[in-house]
Amino acid sequence: DLLINQIAAGEVVERPASVVKEVVENAIDAGARRIDIELEEGGIRLIRVRDDGGGIAPEELRLAVSRHATSKIASLDDLESVCTLGFRGEALPSIAAVSRFALTSRPTDAGHGARLEIDGGRGGDIAPHPHPPGTTVEVRELFFNVPARRRFLKSERTELGHVEEWIRCLALARPEVEIRLVHNGRQTRHYRPARDPAARLARVAEALGGEFGGACLALEQSTADELRLSGWIGLPTASRSSADQQYLFVNGRVVRDRTIGHAIRQAYADVLYHGRHPAYVLFLELDPRRVDVNVHPAKHEVRFRDARRLHDFVYRTLSEALGATRA
Ligand code: ADP
Ligand code: MG
Repeated sequence: DLLINQIAAGEVVERPASVVKEVVENAIDAGARRIDIELEEGGIRLIRVRDDGGGIAPEELRLAVSRHATSKIASLDDLESVCTLGFRGEALPSIAAVSRFALTSRPTDAGHGARLEIDGGRGGDIAPHPHPPGTTVEVRELFFNVPARRRFLKSERTELGHVEEWIRCLALARPEVEIRLVHNGRQTRHYRPARDPAARLARVAEALGGEFGGACLALEQSTADELRLSGWIGLPTASRSSADQQYLFVNGRVVRDRTIGHAIRQAYADVLYHGRHPAYVLFLELDPRRVDVNVHPAKHEVRFRDARRLHDFVYRTLSEALGATRA
């Protein structure tokens, strides 16, 4: 099983960011309202994720790190809607096979917590351990026992960048969840929970950089047949924006789409936008039957039933919003 887990880890775990992704998705699935992420050396030395979700009973800790043991077949659809794809019941055993791993948890209604430790896939003893309601996953020395993979890790800065990018995307998709990121003992990100539009904009500004918050337009438009576009777009006069400030979520899932990208560029071209990459955070919602999200999950591509209509809807909505700024 150890070997199988190490092989599976090759698919699930590429770098610290993939560990953070899997573990944070688990926290969200567990209903966490607050997630604390702590990294050392870009996550290569340590990744620690604590959540205040439902927790795991001591007698179920071992199951949580067994292959193909998932407690949530019923929620596959929800998972789809997060930032990216997960691997059904494979994440924790895979991560535990290639790191020094600890899972500490306390269910909301339990009096105390318990901790399970696995070292490069070995061990698995469970002992009582103090812990507030919720779960902490610790992953130390990623790939310590797989030198070939460890060599593929990039610099601390690059690995941190990948983690931050994924967290940014999640912070935008899940505004109600508080997320903190601490790197080498210093808090580098704090996404406060956002319930009203002002708080959501503050969160978007935190994600994209402060300037965006003061140089964007809010927009919201829907059609009778339940197409809905909402979010924020940069003012055409905004002094700075870049390709990494472009976020499109389709039914809550981050995607890259040429049709929509084209519609957005077109709308900006009309208002004499001189930058190269207008900044935007847009949420498109539509009947799930009108979009196929499984074209290429790893590449965040989707296929729309009626792309032409969607293009026009996005173009018109942005044109109106941008046109109004000229008046
Ligand atoms: P999957 O998420 O596909 O079910 P994982 O290996 O990621 O597989 O997790 C295995 C199981 O461990 C989950 O189904 C869940 O029951 C439990 N689990 C993992 N992380 C948490 C967490 N943070 N809070 C509560 N339960 C968790
Ligand atoms: Mg999971």
